[in-house]
Amino acid sequence: MTMVKHCPRCNRSEDEVAFYGEFCEDCARKDVLEKVKNRVGIVVCKKCGRIRVSGEMLDFTKDNLESAINKSIKTNRFKLVEYDDKTAKGFIMERTRDGTIKSPFEVELDRKSINCENCFKKAGGYFEATFQLRGDMKRANVFLGRIERYFEKHGGFVTKTEKVSGGLEVYVSHKSIASALISSDRLKTVRSYTLAGVKNGKQVYRNTYTVRFEDEIVTRPVRKRDSL
Ligand SMILES: [Zn+2]
Ligand SMILES: [Zn+2]
Repeated sequence: MTMVKHCPRCNRSEDEVAFYGEFCEDCARKDVLEKVKNRVGIVVCKKCGRIRVSGEMLDFTKDNLESAINKSIKTNRFKLVEYDDKTAKGFIMERTRDGTIKSPFEVELDRKSINCENCFKKAGGYFEATFQLRGDMKRANVFLGRIERYFEKHGGFVTKTEKVSGGLEVYVSHKSIASALISSDRLKTVRSYTLAGVKNGKQVYRNTYTVRFEDEIVTRPVRKRDSL
């Protein structure tokens, strides 16, 4: 004959309620929730709306908000379901030997608005490199879109775009992202450098990449002759 287990806290028995380890489900859940902070700070840029997750500014998405909350409450167990400006609702999923305890959880969001580094730099006209797009402007404009998306994806930005005679000048935030884009697209560029100034005793150069787009060769599809 086996003994029926009783919860040491509330004295309910295994016959009435599920157990996780030595405690009943409700008492185990209380234990889990007691250890979790129910107010977390999140940092959001007031200009671009991105959210800070482990030191990086990322797009404000549900997944990234969930990561920011988990970083702040030091777990990876919070599953976000819904949120508004002030609160986030979801579940804490606590794994135990007897299965996962799923506890509804609501956390208050203490939102701090900042001006992120990129927005601050962009406002000041900061740039490290310039793309000079020359030649076919239709293709140059397509490439401009590619530059904007690529920089945004890699944490940079396009400072400004200028039309000049002969093409477009695109000022960008990071030399490193510019050269990564060039190698990823295997672009043929002519590179030049301009001395921008001296920082901490070192000369700082800005890179200029000239990209020439040849006119697209229009090939007409060969029309098949109708068969008899
Ligand atoms: Zn209990
Ligand atoms: Zn920003």
